Amino acid sequence: MKEPPADCLRASSCRAPAQGAHVTFDSFHLDPRLTAGIVSCGYTTPTPIQEKGIPPVMEGHDVMGLAQTGTGKTAAYALPIMERLLTGPRGSLRALVVAPTRELAEQIAEDFRDLGRKARLTVLTIYGGVGINPQIDALRRGVDIVIACPGRLLDHISQGTVDLTKIQVLVLDEADMMLDMGFLPDVRRIIKNLPAQRQNLLYSATMPEDIRHLADAILHDPVTVQIGHSAPVETVSHALYPVPQHLKTPLLIELLKHTDTESVLIFTRTKHRAKKLGEKLANEGYRATSLQGNLSQRARQAALGGFRDGRYKVLVATDIAARGIDVTQISHVINYDIPDTTDAYTHRIGRTGRALHSGDAFTLVTEEDTILVRDIEKVLGTPIERRTLSGFDYKAPAPKRETEFAWDHRPSTGSSRPQRSAGRDGQSTSAPKHHENNVNPPKSLNHRSESRRPANIRTS
Ligand code: AMP
Repeated sequence: MKEPPADCLRASSCRAPAQGAHVTFDSFHLDPRLTAGIVSCGYTTPTPIQEKGIPPVMEGHDVMGLAQTGTGKTAAYALPIMERLLTGPRGSLRALVVAPTRELAEQIAEDFRDLGRKARLTVLTIYGGVGINPQIDALRRGVDIVIACPGRLLDHISQGTVDLTKIQVLVLDEADMMLDMGFLPDVRRIIKNLPAQRQNLLYSATMPEDIRHLADAILHDPVTVQIGHSAPVETVSHALYPVPQHLKTPLLIELLKHTDTESVLIFTRTKHRAKKLGEKLANEGYRATSLQGNLSQRARQAALGGFRDGRYKVLVATDIAARGIDVTQISHVINYDIPDTTDAYTHRIGRTGRALHSGDAFTLVTEEDTILVRDIEKVLGTPIERRTLSGFDYKAPAPKRETEFAWDHRPSTGSSRPQRSAGRDGQSTSAPKHHENNVNPPKSLNHRSESRRPANIRTS
């Protein structure tokens, strides 16, 4: 069956402009205070999800947004929500956004604040790992919009410190990630505490069956807005680097040396690997740090902030920690470890190529990753280019001394993937070790001379 077009699927009730029409933000007739926010954010043209997604939300419809990461979906709901809240009493909690991680909650809140700078609506983030009292005080003073992670919001609900009786709009953002993190029961409990009469917006990059069920349960006659088909953003080019497990780190370091990078986000399978690899790269002279669930909230923000403002050029992260990272200039995403699922690949890769910038996605693959590679290629609809790095010794033996990451080797069966590692709302336990004294690594040498390999990922 042919896939539906990447636009509003219920065209009869959706005022989305005709395909090909020149859509501007003016066509949404937003309040001038919001238009001023759009201008100050530097947005000139709506992205496809905004073009198709803003009208039905403004018309009060429930919406199911199938949008990849980095498509501008936050503004697609933030603008119409703020438009709605501009009328009505200030300081009464009328919009609730539920998101899976603290980083994402902060990112969403920032978008609301930036776009709503002139609208003077109050936005509060609620998540665990930080003191609850400032949140209680802020709720008592009165807020218009709450962006919350499920666990801490439920704490507020059970303590009676949040009043959800006036909620008019509920947003479930990155719903598939909430499913992955085991938050769906919490989400259902939260929804039970909301008024029955409300607008519901659900956004997800992918649509697993459980999310479909949730959507069926909470969305009333929804307009579906689909941008892309749950495949990674098209502004990203993909490459595989076949390598034996024990040579991953040396290959990565060579790859970084020979690649012209702006800023690089590297994914590992476990928190431990992220920490160790971050340290290793810092010792190699890279301005590198790690972002993983074992860091305190303060340390996570320092790592993320440092990456965002360019103090760190390399961030090594686990999947969950990396949710909500919105750094537009990420030039390269490198999967040091291939992700467990194709959805996770989509999410990781969505960290580069954001807002129509172009980006490169490299994945280091070992022989045991063959099945996952095939699945990813199926989602992409095309084989991924295999590359070798010229001059790199792929036959080098494992180091005699402690093998890199020998402490954390994946079982050779390839079937028993480790569990995702962040806790509730990504809560954390210990403080990080940062390396601040590093110098710039050498820049691009001969990366473009890499040879193309045949379509198999065997390395010997
Ligand atoms: P999101 O998918 O909401 O996380 O947005 C991804 C990035 O796109 C963020 O950095 C936004 O600030 C940016 N963005 C959103 N809408 C636009 C737009 N219309 N034009 C340019 N950048 C945008």
